[in-house]
Amino acid sequence: MKLIRIPSFLILAIAMLFAGRTRTSSMPAPPPAPAPNFILVAHSGAGDISKAPPEFIESRRTGMVVAIKKGYAILAAGGTSLDAVEATIRSMEDSGLYDSGRGAYYTRDGIPEMDAAIMDGKTLAAGSVAALQHIANPIHLARLVMEKTPHVMLVGTGAERFAESQGIELVSPYYFYNERLWQQYQRAKEKADEDKKKSSAIPDDPMREHGTVGVVALDQHGNLAAGTSTGGTTYKMPGRVGDSPIIGAGTYANNESCAVSGTGIGEFFMRNIVAADICERVRYLHVPLEQAANDVVMKELVDQKGEGGVIALDHQGNVATPFNTTGMITGTVRPDGKIEMKGWSKTAEPEIVSATQ
Ligand code: ASP
Repeated sequence: MKLIRIPSFLILAIAMLFAGRTRTSSMPAPPPAPAPNFILVAHSGAGDISKAPPEFIESRRTGMVVAIKKGYAILAAGGTSLDAVEATIRSMEDSGLYDSGRGAYYTRDGIPEMDAAIMDGKTLAAGSVAALQHIANPIHLARLVMEKTPHVMLVGTGAERFAESQGIELVSPYYFYNERLWQQYQRAKEKADEDKKKSSAIPDDPMREHGTVGVVALDQHGNLAAGTSTGGTTYKMPGRVGDSPIIGAGTYANNESCAVSGTGIGEFFMRNIVAADICERVRYLHVPLEQAANDVVMKELVDQKGEGGVIALDHQGNVATPFNTTGMITGTVRPDGKIEMKGWSKTAEPEIVSATQ
């Protein structure tokens, strides 16, 4: 009689299949894992870009999508909101397309000076830097201030010396050279020189453009973070510091309320502690995020002629992006990977772009 030999690996595979079947039929199926909940919102400055060439608006939108993809990848992989905020802002700083990092606007001295801040909503740890002239990525230095010093804010040469101690290479002001901004600076300077009496006022920027960048994010662990990076307002006085690096004015995050990054004429945001005011309304008055953000940006700031806008995000994933200017480009991404881009005008229809392609 001929014996049929069954290979032992086949016997093992059949046994495993039966064992698996028995287990699944006798045990209740585990509940489906909750869908990951995370969200990231970015802005690239509130202002009037209605007279800007379409290519300019398009380049800023594209730069934002590239940046948001970086933050999205971190959040989707279970990374922290702090890492996502920093990576997204770094990308915008490096692009040279915004008033931050490589594209920072010139001061009246013709040299960019940059401010940035980052805040962790879980611990309330915060780091900020101001009046930097030689740092390519101010948001990274702000993060190092938060994590490697006992302080919240470092400015000017002290901040740059700390950067060197952390292995960050100082760059020459030529690193920030930008022909378009240089021409804009020259025009503003000529105008100011023409009328010495007005030289302490902020000369009119023909495009009234702002390009500060900011990001707020909620990660899968339920933690909020906020960050902002800027070269400040056009033709600002050397040494002037705006709201962006002031915790509670232009940047704030608290897991108990919300995360906010602001943009606009910083002096108004500082006087009104805009970011903290929005979050404290949510925390103490229990008003919905949208109402809190609208009341501050569309009523209080408007009453004072304080131009600007904010991106705000609460721990439940609610988002508000009010602006009282004609535009503020924002991009918002959730776990489905669809980036909702809007805000290049008050009436712009949102556009959806994939974060995974
Ligand atoms: N808020 C920034 C500042 O005053 C400028 C801006 O958002 O465009 O420095």
